[in-house]
Amino acid sequence: MPYRCGRCSYIIGSMKDFEAVPGMRCPMCGYRVFYKVRSPIVKRIKL
Ligand SMILES: [Zn+2]
Repeated sequence: MPYRCGRCSYIIGSMKDFEAVPGMRCPMCGYRVFYKVRSPIVKRIKL
């Protein structure tokens, strides 16, 4: 599930992208509030 930065609306595609950023911050602006982006297509990811 993608996440959108609450400040700059930067879209983080997955949790793997978060892993590359210490503290789960936006890589663009450093903001720490994210909103879940609901995709029109529901996809289930096998963990
Ligand atoms: Zn941001």
